[in-house]
Amino acid sequence: MIKIKKLNKYFSDKHILKDINIEVRKGQKVSIIGPSGSGKSTLIRCINLLEIPESGEIYINGTNILNEKNISNIRKNIAMVFQNFNLFNNKNVLNNIILAPILLGLKTQKEAEKNAYELLDKVGLLDKINSYPSQLSGGQKQRVAIARAMAMNPEIILFDEPTSALDPEMVQEVLNVIRDLSKDDITMLIVTHEMNFAKNISDEIWFMDEGKIIEKGSPDILFNNPKNKRTLDFLNKIN
Ligand code: ATP
Ligand code: MG
Repeated sequence: MIKIKKLNKYFSDKHILKDINIEVRKGQKVSIIGPSGSGKSTLIRCINLLEIPESGEIYINGTNILNEKNISNIRKNIAMVFQNFNLFNNKNVLNNIILAPILLGLKTQKEAEKNAYELLDKVGLLDKINSYPSQLSGGQKQRVAIARAMAMNPEIILFDEPTSALDPEMVQEVLNVIRDLSKDDITMLIVTHEMNFAKNISDEIWFMDEGKIIEKGSPDILFNNPKNKRTLDFLNKIN
């Protein structure tokens, strides 16, 4: 489903991603952990071409997306949820959700609205359908952002620290929504500092440090019995 070979990314002369090789199966849930600046965001941003790597290959369902001319074709299939929500502040909740599927010709207005109702019901925000982002709490904004991502019916969803900008009391409501989605066969890559959450929902954890994936493993092995000293040091530091 996702296969990355020898991916390298630089920002000016700084080598940020160093020969990354990964494989993710359809439906797999992977959490990416690691220290600040290790390249976690850059890696997932490369997967939907928000960053363009200098070298390497990124295959989605067998096609190297770095050769794909039409970026919107890729973005239809790979949704992203950001730390800071990135909602359209001048549009209400309904319009935030239906805009892209209609613009990209994936759904008619009527279909998009029906789908938006279902998604808002799923994330517990049907009563906010006419509200504007400024009228929502951080946790509510993030749940709308997740509904908006799902409205594209993507095969892959990328989360970049979806709860880091939230007040502590709102973290759980967002994690619950992501956990509920994780039961679907959607493929998920989640950059997170929520270790318990990562432990509970992931099939696999990747530990990144200094532009490399240092260790990959099941949550049980990576958290309880890591093979690499750097993984262990990181886990000891954050606990
Ligand atoms: P955090 O946990 O703090 O979000 P991260 O693991 O997501 O960190 P990245 O944001 O991927 O780290 O950044 C990796 C490195 O690339 C950092 O040294 C960062 O300063 C640098 N970097 C990221 N984006 C840019 C950019 N647009 N221009 C220049 N340097 C950048
Ligand atoms: Mg980051």
